[in-house]
Amino acid sequence: QAKEAGRNGFAVFAEWMNDSAEQQFRLLADLRSAIGTDQLFLHYQPKLSVARHTVAGAEALIRWKHPEQGLIPPDRFIRLAERSGIINEIGRWALNEACRQLRQWHDAGHDNWTMSVNLSPIQFSAPQLLNEVRDVLARHRIEPRRLILEITESTVMRDTETSLRLLQALARLGVGISIDDFGTGYSSLLYLKRLPASEIKIDHAFVRELENSSEDVVIVSAIVALGHALDMDIVAEGVETAGQRAYLERLGCDYLQGYLLGHPVDPVRFKQLHDLPRPRIEVAAGWKEPEG
Ligand code: C2E
Ligand code: MG
Ligand code: MG
Ligand code: MG
Repeated sequence: QAKEAGRNGFAVFAEWMNDSAEQQFRLLADLRSAIGTDQLFLHYQPKLSVARHTVAGAEALIRWKHPEQGLIPPDRFIRLAERSGIINEIGRWALNEACRQLRQWHDAGHDNWTMSVNLSPIQFSAPQLLNEVRDVLARHRIEPRRLILEITESTVMRDTETSLRLLQALARLGVGISIDDFGTGYSSLLYLKRLPASEIKIDHAFVRELENSSEDVVIVSAIVALGHALDMDIVAEGVETAGQRAYLERLGCDYLQGYLLGHPVDPVRFKQLHDLPRPRIEVAAGWKEPEG
């Protein structure tokens, strides 16, 4: 349970502390040599559109298959990568890989799917990010609006003026900006007003107790109202039960993510699971059946 308390809170810190200094040192060395090998890969979790009842896109989530220790979750190695600086290299790889995958899906007929990619605060404070994003879009011929960059609320707050300028430049480029884990950080409403974000992701923490907590219902509906007033889409994450889903739909969320709707899976499985037939009207308009 503690793990779910927040990506930026004490719970995650405590987990990270579980690895001794020596373990961390080894893990970091192993992580360095994992870059550029197939030990690092991405899984994809569907994001469901409430209005369309279909998959709107995917969120890319990094995975590390350690040769001896097996699968290591990002919560155990992202911070390590951030503290050592290799997060820039890992992040660049993840952004490129996710866009490469999106291009494949677009070519297979899912040309309206979006791809959400998580960015570390470290990447976010490097000015070259703007060029990297521009390059990766060009390399894979991705329309900017199909890429959504997820940044945590605390990231945004870290260095307000610098990150605000970078965000504005990214928004001008046309990519979506999503504020991840919303409600767990400390953004002021004044600051939120200035953010060129296109989306808010309501943190798990407000979804988990929704069915039994009238406080959480009030909080979620306030976030929805606030986000919509600022012209942002609302995504709820960590949706695990049909009851939570019903609440979130009634409260006006635009998109849902969570185990109820789909676990993060490899890209082949993702396409198998979500490759629903296209509406007939598109067939009539000359749409071709994807191969394979
Ligand atoms: P996040 O971006 O908030 O991602 C959501 C996390 O919740 C993912 O954990 C996902 O597997 C998990 N999740 C999804 N649905 C449910 C659900 O219904 N119930 C519960 N309990 N959990 C659910 P994961 O994959 O372990 O990733 C953890 C965090 O690591 C992410 O949180 C994100 O902050 C970070 N992360 C993942 N991939 C990357 C990456 O490529 N770069 C960076 N910088 N960070 C990443
Ligand atoms: Mg995310
Ligand atoms: Mg999140
Ligand atoms: Mg979260």
